[in-house]
Amino acid sequence: MAQVLDGKATADRLLEEVRLGVEARGAKGLRPPCLAVVLVGEDPASQVYVRGKVRACAQTGVRSREHFPPSAITQAELEDLIDRLNADDGVDGILVQLPLPKHLDPKAALHRISPAKDVDGFHPLNQGFLFEGLPGLRPCTPSAVMRMLDIYGIELKGARAVVLGRSEIVGKPMALMLLERHATVTIAHSRTKDLPGLCREADLLVAAIGKPGLVEGSWIRPGATVVDVGINRVEDPALAARIFPAEPRKLEQLAAKGSVLCGDVRYGEALDVAGAVTPVPGGVGPLTIAGLLLNTLQACEARGV
Ligand code: NAP
Repeated sequence: MAQVLDGKATADRLLEEVRLGVEARGAKGLRPPCLAVVLVGEDPASQVYVRGKVRACAQTGVRSREHFPPSAITQAELEDLIDRLNADDGVDGILVQLPLPKHLDPKAALHRISPAKDVDGFHPLNQGFLFEGLPGLRPCTPSAVMRMLDIYGIELKGARAVVLGRSEIVGKPMALMLLERHATVTIAHSRTKDLPGLCREADLLVAAIGKPGLVEGSWIRPGATVVDVGINRVEDPALAARIFPAEPRKLEQLAAKGSVLCGDVRYGEALDVAGAVTPVPGGVGPLTIAGLLLNTLQACEARGV
């Protein structure tokens, strides 16, 4: 039976680190860090994510400021808001919640954020720092995953790592961070041939593709560490019966609530083969918010305010 890598407990530990950092600033007479969150429109899932981020701010003593422009906001108005937050000395971090309404250009908005306040780590300058192995603000999900792997003592040096997914938010930065720590990294994507065979070579398998239960137990090398970044909502009972045969509780949840959350990995099957595995929910999800708060504290300290 694999060890369960507890994302919630790890996130609590990282949030405590932020709380202590904020407290230490207070003891020196410095103000707490401040995160500005911009949520355009009324997407219910985004509202849930933003509420979680604001709650984590309150838990750690980080100040938060929320901006809720209507979905009809123009690109110029959104960029004007970002410019004002960039110029505001009381703001250390700026987060524009994605996805944006279709008429807005997310890249242009994200690139508008000052790199010094880019707590999501999506600005090309910060991505360049990561590419060069230099300090900077790094994407929250992979950087918090790295912290979790270290906390659990997962050996990375020389490990064969396979990262499924090549997004700029998770896959690519995850691969760079693992490479920096001397893993031998392969990035796989939708055109990769023989994905099961490739996955079976991995000592560390990171799945970030957004396909419910794609990774079967038979794809996992015995004893491997499996990090499941995917968050998928499954509503189809036939699909659920196919991907959760080893997880009767998921099927019960689906019957009771009409949908169930799962990762890209068949967790029940992974438990029987892997050495360690993250669950969904309760794995990487909570880590992302902790990564954001760590970045906000880092941005504030780096600005010297
Ligand atoms: P994304 O931008 O949609 O990228 C998905 C990647 O998966 C792409 O590179 C795609 O390949 C690849 N892919 C899709 N289908 C595949 C298949 N059948 N075989 C192999 N590769 C395949 O997704 P993302 O933003 O990185 O997010 C990935 C998942 O992580 C989603 O479920 C998302 O909700 C979740 N997520 C979770 C957190 C968290 O806090 N836990 C944070 C961020 C994202 P191509 O490039 O060839 O299209």
